[in-house]
Amino acid sequence: MLGRFPNAVSKAYDVIVIGGGHNGLVHAAYLARAGRKVLVLERRHVLGGAAVTEEIFAGFQFSVASYVVSLLRPEIIRDLDLPRHGLEILPLDGTFTPMPNGDYLWRVNDHGRTRREIARHSKLDAEAYDEYGKAMIEMGKFVKPILSMTPPDPTSPGWTGLMDLLRLTRRFRDLPPADRYNQLQLMTMSAVDFLDQWFETDVLKATMSASGIIGTFLGVRSPGTAYVLLHHYMGEIDGAFRSWGFARGGTGAISNAIAGAAREAGAEIRTEAPIAKILVKGGRAAGVVLENGEEIPARAVSSSLDPRRTFIQMVGRELLPADFAEDIDRYKFRGSSGKVNLALDALPDFTCLPGPGPHLRGAISISPSVDYMERAYDDAKYGHWSRRPYIDMVIPSLTDPSVAPPGKHVLSCFVQYAPYHLKGGNWDSEREAFGDTVVDTVAEYAPNLKKIILHRQVLTPLDIERTFGLTEGNIFQGELTLEQLFFLRPAPGWARYRTPIRGLYVCGSAAHPGGGIMGAPGQNAAAVLLSDLKRGKA
Ligand SMILES: Cc1cc2nc3c(=O)[nH]c(=O)nc-3n(C[C@H](O)[C@H](O)[C@H](O)COP(=O)(O)OP(=O)(O)OC[C@H]3O[C@@H](n4cnc5c(N)ncnc54)[C@H](O)[C@@H]3O)c2cc1C
Repeated sequence: MLGRFPNAVSKAYDVIVIGGGHNGLVHAAYLARAGRKVLVLERRHVLGGAAVTEEIFAGFQFSVASYVVSLLRPEIIRDLDLPRHGLEILPLDGTFTPMPNGDYLWRVNDHGRTRREIARHSKLDAEAYDEYGKAMIEMGKFVKPILSMTPPDPTSPGWTGLMDLLRLTRRFRDLPPADRYNQLQLMTMSAVDFLDQWFETDVLKATMSASGIIGTFLGVRSPGTAYVLLHHYMGEIDGAFRSWGFARGGTGAISNAIAGAAREAGAEIRTEAPIAKILVKGGRAAGVVLENGEEIPARAVSSSLDPRRTFIQMVGRELLPADFAEDIDRYKFRGSSGKVNLALDALPDFTCLPGPGPHLRGAISISPSVDYMERAYDDAKYGHWSRRPYIDMVIPSLTDPSVAPPGKHVLSCFVQYAPYHLKGGNWDSEREAFGDTVVDTVAEYAPNLKKIILHRQVLTPLDIERTFGLTEGNIFQGELTLEQLFFLRPAPGWARYRTPIRGLYVCGSAAHPGGGIMGAPGQNAAAVLLSDLKRGKA
């Protein structure tokens, strides 16, 4: 493949960005706005990576992978003027959890109604829900500035790092004592243990704990999952903390808006341009080589890919310090999620709350009890997908009718657990059986489902790896577990977006502060790279 354009040399760029996912695009937009000559190279025919909209079946637009947005940093929306480039976020109203006994739990954005609904299950929980909400907002506020911070290296912090650490310690000290305890507990406990301290209603705890397992190979009772819970609470839409929404036109509209801002600032973006190698000359990154052999030189290269792809596959182990290569080998992916996208002829009809009501406009969660959630994990621990999985569903066509033909709908099912490594069989032969399990599970609550399915797309973790380039199908480019967060992401000593190869930077979800449609890694890395370019250090 490298032979078609042997050593062809294109014009020089200040920075080549590997990957046109939303982080690569945010990164390029900030660099271009600072006057740098930037080229983004994307392997696929569409931009957006895991934040993409595609017409999988004629007339149906799917947010094929990621499907709701909350974490996208408000300052990025402002700086890049994303609404002018077509971004519109529509609120997602609430979470509906059908229960096997014919009851349900339905929390909405209306505070009074949610309180009354929770009180139907437990008066104590209705009281605690307010307190919990306030505490989580405080936790989110504490973490917010950390998201836009270049993590200090605690082993050799330097002057700026020392000041950052000091500021963090001071902010922690200034928290009220209850919030300090909450913060420590969130960093160490399991999602269920944390929630047990507040609530008694099983279905409430089960549904809330689900945010703690998304994208991880851990169960709701595994220590460390309380942090993932917080990660999903850090978002805000129009200043409202913890709120989630749909992008009109699907999540690809977010990436397209960012691409529009990047192009307007002067960035060049090429699709169908897969990169085979990062050129390293004299110990520093000097450009890239495409799979077709085209060589493109640049002063610096920024990769929005995960560390296994960036370092082991594109740089090569032999050019890396041995201890760094070992750290990258140890970095955990352990994909645990799948996705089933359905084109529907009508709306699903839930036995516990029949008819096409507003309960279908928010998230629909198959998480009836804590034991159900933990059993779903038990299957995965032993190398099988969950026989009764946790499923987070949305029907975006109810809020944004542009994504389906009139009267038809798209139903997106995010599923856990689907372990990348199966004990028996392989995902190519198990794909449809996994899809059947998901449909059967939902049909237990909405029996008309099977009759209204027009088309079905099943994405296993292997498909997520093949389609989006996410190693082992991990949706966050690597687990959000404590040992690979903040100054440890992606490797100890290398969390400041620079890498052991001079002139090579990382700007994707495998860098601080991690995955989700957030844009923060791309933005933070741009600040570091711009400062290095200015000082002639890149
Ligand atoms: C099934 C699923 C559901 C999710 N749901 C949500 C959700 O609802 N909300 C949310 O906030 N987050 C969600 N996420 C997570 C979120 O989508 C990702 O964390 C985020 O989109 C990653 O963005 P990124 O730009 O860092 O990387 P990516 O999106 O992985 O982008 C990397 C890009 O690099 C490209 N690339 C790979 N190899 C090469 C190469 N050799 N040459 C050139 N280009 C290359 C890829 O094609 C890709 O476009 C979900 C993810 C998945 C997979």
